[in-house]
Amino acid sequence: MRLVEGIKDLVALYHDYKTMNKDEKADFYQAKCDYYQKYVELSLIAGCFSSVAYIFSDYLLNGTFLPTLVSRCSIIVFMIIFFAITHFSKKRSVLVFMDYFLGHAMVIATIWSIYHLEDKVHASEGFIIMNLIWITVGFVAKPREVVISTVVFLLEIILTYPINHYPNLDIILALEIPCGLAVILSHCLLMLYFLDHYRIQQKLELAMITDPLTQVYNRHLLERIVYKNALRDVPEGQHASIAMLDIDFFKKINDEHGHYTGDLTLLYIGQKLSGQTHDDDYVIRYGGEEFVIIFKNCDVNHACARMEQFRQEIENAKDTPVPFTVSIGVSHYNGDYSKTIQNVDAALYKAKNTGRNKVVVI
Ligand code: GH3
Ligand code: MG
Ligand code: MG
Repeated sequence: MRLVEGIKDLVALYHDYKTMNKDEKADFYQAKCDYYQKYVELSLIAGCFSSVAYIFSDYLLNGTFLPTLVSRCSIIVFMIIFFAITHFSKKRSVLVFMDYFLGHAMVIATIWSIYHLEDKVHASEGFIIMNLIWITVGFVAKPREVVISTVVFLLEIILTYPINHYPNLDIILALEIPCGLAVILSHCLLMLYFLDHYRIQQKLELAMITDPLTQVYNRHLLERIVYKNALRDVPEGQHASIAMLDIDFFKKINDEHGHYTGDLTLLYIGQKLSGQTHDDDYVIRYGGEEFVIIFKNCDVNHACARMEQFRQEIENAKDTPVPFTVSIGVSHYNGDYSKTIQNVDAALYKAKNTGRNKVVVI
C-alpha cells in the first residue's frame, strides 16, 4: 500500500538522518538552505508587500488609513535591514536568522497595527494567515529552529495581550497551537524528503567524478581541481606533489591479449594506486592508460620514493593480468596547477624517451 510504503521510506530516511555526524548534518542543512533560500527570500518579500496592503482591510475596519499607516509601512525598514545583512552573508545560520527576523518583524508590525484597530475581533484571522510565513521560512530551517520560532510566535501573541486585549485570545490560541504543530510536522517531513533528494544528488555527483572501469576519480574531478585551483588550500609550510603514470606498451597488451585483458590491467592499476595512497590524496584516471596522482602534504622526494616503490611492485607483481611496467613523471606542486601538470607531463615524456619503466622528476 502506498501509505505503508511512504511510512517505510520515512523511517529509513530518519535512520539515515540519525547516522549523520555533526559535519555531515551541517553540509546537509547548508545544501537545503542553498537550494531554498531564494524561494524563501522572494516569498518573504511578497509577504511584506501583502502585509502593507492590509492597510486596506484596516480602512474597512477604521474608516480611515491614517492610524495604521506607520505601523504597516514599518516593515519596509525591516526589509532594508534584511537586505543589508543578507547581501553580505551566505552563511546558513545568518540567512535563517534574518529570514525569521523578517517574519517576526511582520508579526510585530501586525500586532502594532492591531493596537490601532477599533475592532480587534479579526486578529485571529490575521494570526492564522501568519502561518504562511512559517511554512515558507521553514524550508531553510532545521526542525529545532521551526519549533523555536513557533514558541516565539505564541509568546508574541500572549505577551502583547495586556496591551492589545484581543477579544478572543482563547480562540486565537486554540487555532494557532494546532497550526503551529502542523507547521513543525510538515517541516520535519520536508527535511526527510530533502535528505532523499540530497542523497540522490550526492550519488550523481560521485558518479560524475568516478571512472566506471577503474573506480578511481576521472577528469571531471581534475577539471574541478584545476578550475578552483583547489590545491591552494595546502597549508603554508606544507608541500604537495603531482605524479603522472603511464602503462608501457599498453597497446601491445590490447593487441596481444585482447581489450578485456587491457581493461583488467587498468582496473588492477587503479585499485592498487587507490590502495596505496592516503585519504587526502587523489588518484585520477587522466586518459586511456594514464593516471594522475595528487599527493597532498607530501614533498617531491617523498612522492618520488613512493612512486619508485610502486613502479618496482608493478614490475615484480605476480598477480597482474599480464606482466607489464609503468613510467612515471613527478613534480613539486608550484602553486599553479596547470604549470605543474606541464612539468609532470615533461617528466613522463622524458621517462618514456629514456627507456621506460622508470620514475623521472622535474
Ligand atoms: P607507451 O609505452 O609509449 O605509452 O605506449 P602505449 O602503447 O602504452 O601507448 P599508446 O598511446 O600508443 O596506446 C594506448 C592504448 O590504450 C591505445 C588505446 O587503444 C588503449 N586504451 C585506451 N583506453 C582504453 C580502455 O579503456 N581499455 C582498453 N583495453 N584499452 C584502452
Ligand atoms: Mg599514454
Ligand atoms: Mg602507455
